[in-house]
Amino acid sequence: MNKPLWGIDLGGTKIEGAILPSLDNPVPLLRTRIDTEGAKGYEHIVGQVHKLVQMMMQQSGLTPQQIGFGTPGVLDPLLLTMKNCNSTALNGRPLKKDLEEKLQLPVSLANDANCFALAETHWGIVKEKTPDARVVFGIIMGTGVGGGIVFNGQVWNGKQGIAGVWGHNFLDASGGPCYCGKNGCVETVLSGPALQRYYEQLTGTKFSLKEIVSHFRQGDDNAALETINRLNNFFGKAVSAVINLLDPDVIVVGGGVGNIDTIYTAGLESVKQHIFNNRVDVPILKPSLGDSAGVFGAAALVA
Ligand SMILES: [Zn+2]
Repeated sequence: MNKPLWGIDLGGTKIEGAILPSLDNPVPLLRTRIDTEGAKGYEHIVGQVHKLVQMMMQQSGLTPQQIGFGTPGVLDPLLLTMKNCNSTALNGRPLKKDLEEKLQLPVSLANDANCFALAETHWGIVKEKTPDARVVFGIIMGTGVGGGIVFNGQVWNGKQGIAGVWGHNFLDASGGPCYCGKNGCVETVLSGPALQRYYEQLTGTKFSLKEIVSHFRQGDDNAALETINRLNNFFGKAVSAVINLLDPDVIVVGGGVGNIDTIYTAGLESVKQHIFNNRVDVPILKPSLGDSAGVFGAAALVA
C-alpha cells in the first residue's frame, strides 16, 4: 500500500503542512499551517516546524516516515547548509541535518520554485495539458524571479543545487543592482518590484503591480503601457535563453507577474523573435494549482 505523502512549505510568514494520500490522489487528508515567526531566529523556526508536525500527527492519527520540505533558497549540496534564502535566518545553517535531528526522520529539501514545478507536473496544468512532458521548466515571477526544472517527474537540482535559477542570469543593465550583488539580473527587470520601480522612474508615482496593470488595461496611461511592453519584450529575451539551453517540453509560469495576460501573447511573440528557431512549439502555460503548489510539491518530493 502507498504511504501517505507528507509535505511542508516553509515560507517567510507561514509554515504550511499537508498530507496527501498518494501520487495518484492529491486530495489532502489534512492541511494546516502555523506562523513562521522568523524574526525570533533560526532555532525558533525549526521549533515551529516541529510544533506543526506534532499538530499534524495528532490531528491525522498518522506518523510520517519522511517529510518533503519546500524552502526559500537551496541546500548547498557540498556544504550542506542553506544559501540564497530571502528568509536570511536560514542562510548558512544546516537545515536538513537540524530538521532530521529535531523530527527524528529523513527529510528532503527543495526550493519553492522546484516544488511549484513538481506539483504542476504531477497534479496541475502540465498533467492536464501536456501529460507526456519529460522536461518541465517552472517559472515563478513575483516578488522575486525563480525557476525549477523537472526531468521525468523528478526535480533536477544540478551539481551545485542551482539548476533552473534563471532569475539571476544577466538580462539588461537597466535593471540596476540586484540584492545578490550582481547587476541587471532577470529579477531586476521582470519581478513585480522591478515593474513598480520602472513605472516610478517614468512617473514619480509609486503604484502597486495591480494598479499598473489596471491602468495598462484602461489604455490611457502611457507609462503603464511602456512598463508592460518592456515586460513582454524582456520576458521573451529571458525565456528564449532558457529554451535555447534546455528546450523543455513545456513551461509553466506562476507568480503575480505570471498573471499578466500579455506575456502569453506579446510576450510569446518576443520569445519567437529571440529563440533560435523559426517557431515556438513549447507551450507556455498558466498554472492550475494556485497557492497549493508549494506544499503539494513538497509532498511530491517524498513520492
Ligand atoms: Zn541577482
